[in-house]
Amino acid sequence: MSLQLPRKHNATDTTIFTVMSTLAQQYNAINLSQGFPDFPIDTKLSNLLHEASLNGLNQYAPMAGLPILREAIAQDFSKRYSITLNPDTEITITPGATYAIYTAFSAILSPGDEVVVLEPAYDSYIPNIEMNGAKAIPVKLLPKTFAPDWEKIKASINSRTKAIIINTPHNPTGTIWQQEDWNQLAELLRNTDIFILSDEVYEQLVFDKQQHCSVLQQPELRERSFVLYSFGKAFHNTGWKIGYCIAPPTLSQAFRRLHQFLSFSVNTPAQYALAQYLSHTERESPTELLQNKRNYFIELMQQTPFQLLQPSQGSYFQLVSYAGMSDASDIDFARLLTEKYGVATIPISAFYSDKHDDKILRFCFAKKEETLTKAVERLKDIEPESF
Ligand code: PMP
Ligand code: GLN
Repeated sequence: MSLQLPRKHNATDTTIFTVMSTLAQQYNAINLSQGFPDFPIDTKLSNLLHEASLNGLNQYAPMAGLPILREAIAQDFSKRYSITLNPDTEITITPGATYAIYTAFSAILSPGDEVVVLEPAYDSYIPNIEMNGAKAIPVKLLPKTFAPDWEKIKASINSRTKAIIINTPHNPTGTIWQQEDWNQLAELLRNTDIFILSDEVYEQLVFDKQQHCSVLQQPELRERSFVLYSFGKAFHNTGWKIGYCIAPPTLSQAFRRLHQFLSFSVNTPAQYALAQYLSHTERESPTELLQNKRNYFIELMQQTPFQLLQPSQGSYFQLVSYAGMSDASDIDFARLLTEKYGVATIPISAFYSDKHDDKILRFCFAKKEETLTKAVERLKDIEPESF
């Protein structure tokens, strides 16, 4: 017997998040690598989950999601963004945003299609494109500012281009798109049939009184967009793995056509808890909480030999350069930092298909203050010659 296992994608067998979190455990290091909070979620939310299960909400939810959750999302978007959504035809609840990204790609891609991906990019995008038989066309963001390189994006588009995927607030750089960026994209895509996937999982985490700009606010683009969200980021419960896809009715229909045979539905008690919590008037503000953590982390890092890049404008992440300290590759540096100094981070080359290495690490600041303090204590003592 010779069992053949097709590779399905060209990326690594083990993601950088698994590699670094495993290494962190192995060396008992402080884990500032994978993006997950180490502080508790609001007890109101935990109680609602408990209550839902006790009240017998333990069976399958409707395929598109619990109506009360879709309704609560529509009201939330109306209140925070003045965006009108039809909960029946435009919102689908999913088991996380990663799944929603895959499903949206699957709904639109055929073999031979191309998808433009701006790099550095979240690691699931390119494998998801390849798993659907299509080809990713990576286009680097501009150095230092990580702004879109419109000339290069334009040059990457041709008759095979089926979609472009955008991520704002951006993982890993912490940059955000402004309305002007969406307008530029609208100009570029006018008279084409190119779809947009807009990954907006960090939309509630935009700092310094700036506003999140959604593709949903650009009418020309909204018509062609699948917009992906995750509750995990807003409510610090990444392990619940619940997200949603917002798209116009015909696109949502195509999305649900696949979703009904992939997962069919999503954890009922958690959907119930999220619906109740979304309608709660006394919710914690994730923006302020995370902005304070970013400020705290940036301040502490001044005591170390690392150089911070521009302050994160959104997300869980801050980029930091070690270029003045070592010539080691970012992968080797991150590994040694975990093993010798007990602090785990993510090397940014993992977010580039050509493994581009600018000697930059990503730190996750979505942690308790004491965790950040302890980590920076360790980083202060670094001897650059040990790398
Ligand atoms: N997109 C980005 C940019 C992310 O950082 C993450 C992190 N988890 C996801 C999508 C996936 O979200 P989820 O955990 O809901 O699958
Ligand atoms: N979104 C998280 C991050 O960027 C990781 C999620 C995962 O482990 N796949 O760190």
